[in-house]
Amino acid sequence: MHEQTGVGCLATKDSRPGWGGTPVVVHKNVVCPGCGSLCDDLQVTVEENKVTAVLRGCMLGRAKFIASPAGVSPRVAGQESSFKAALAAGARILATARHPLIYGLSSTTCEAQKKAVYLAEIIGASIDSTSSICHGPGTLAQQLVGIPTCSLGEVKNRADVVVFWGCNPMEAHPRHFSRYSVAARGLEVARGRKDRQVIVVDVRKTATAKGADLFLQVEPGGDFEVLTVLRALVKGHELPRATYGGIPWEQLVEVGEILRAASYGVLFFGMGLTMTRGGPYNVGQAIDLVRDLNRHTKFAAMPMRGHGNVAGSESVLAWQTGYPFAVNFSRGYPRYNPGEFTATDLLRRREVDAALIVAADPVVTLPARAAACLKEIPTVVVDPYYSPTAQVAQVYFPSAPAGIGAAGTVYRMDLVPLSVKKLIEYPWPSDEEIISELVQGVSKCS
Ligand code: SF4
Repeated sequence: MHEQTGVGCLATKDSRPGWGGTPVVVHKNVVCPGCGSLCDDLQVTVEENKVTAVLRGCMLGRAKFIASPAGVSPRVAGQESSFKAALAAGARILATARHPLIYGLSSTTCEAQKKAVYLAEIIGASIDSTSSICHGPGTLAQQLVGIPTCSLGEVKNRADVVVFWGCNPMEAHPRHFSRYSVAARGLEVARGRKDRQVIVVDVRKTATAKGADLFLQVEPGGDFEVLTVLRALVKGHELPRATYGGIPWEQLVEVGEILRAASYGVLFFGMGLTMTRGGPYNVGQAIDLVRDLNRHTKFAAMPMRGHGNVAGSESVLAWQTGYPFAVNFSRGYPRYNPGEFTATDLLRRREVDAALIVAADPVVTLPARAAACLKEIPTVVVDPYYSPTAQVAQVYFPSAPAGIGAAGTVYRMDLVPLSVKKLIEYPWPSDEEIISELVQGVSKCS
């Protein structure tokens, strides 16, 4: 009987042989890399080196395991190539660039992120993660005011008031409700949903809002005002207007009372707060509201991180360089300046002359002017998928996807590190191994 064990991932061979007598391996407690919730209770069946069944994952998670990439090969200038030739071409591009950019990093392991930081240092690159176009502004706010936060375990066991502000977990983190925040039964909330009050604040009635006890439809750009008014209410002030940020005064009073009366509250915030006008100030005000509430009760705040290891990208960059994203090594030491060294700004201003993209698809996700730059400069892509960015790259390396074809460490949205496992064999190395090869190749070119 074939049996594998590891922290967070037990695997046993089913007693049934698979078709053709090949073993059926059932991996238990598998961590899903599909989103920042990193559910760690999946059961994945592997047969003939293919994932054939996924238990407990949501639709997004199951698709990640089942639709694993296949049939891709390294490419140089759009033509299929050997891995060795692609390595030589990729290393040459990075070694000869005057100001290269390394970007992405949110859907790979911490081990690969660490190697990418090292590569950035030796080639004098700017390095940035997708955080700069999602929760980066919230991170700036945290640098200014700190953040009273908690683990998702505490949310599950204690939170009786849950606020979702500018995020839509029903669609972006489908199991967040059931595992951690709304329906989950915990020590102090034994009846799950019945013991919780759920408040959603958003500019439109999302799927998450439809399941809430109270929905505040804030007018676009009105978040800062609403947060400010809630702070005033929590402090016991009366205000003169009938509406604030599009929300009637009576409804704001009701929410202020619910927040103050919580035994344990948590405010999850998303890109509706971080990436709208005044992003860092919005998040700073939300954190200050939570800080004010802590004079009355226990309250915590937490960003709803999207990509599977975007939280890890900030952590790794911070412990390697002192800064969470937008770091530049052109002077031989790390400098930090969002707005100057963020990928969107560097590309938009045409300030980089080569790029290495790791496990991301900026041609699709960055603003058009910035994305267009990636078609003008030599770009090297390391990604399990032959994405639109890979299709315009000068050099493309297929890699084994983290958590499916490669093992490593990832950080959940509450900054709890978890181990993802290798479940199937891929013909290609992991992101970490490819970046290590590029480091060696660059060293030989210099
Ligand atoms: S909620 Fe996220 S981590 Fe959990 S199964 Fe779905 S995609 Fe995977």
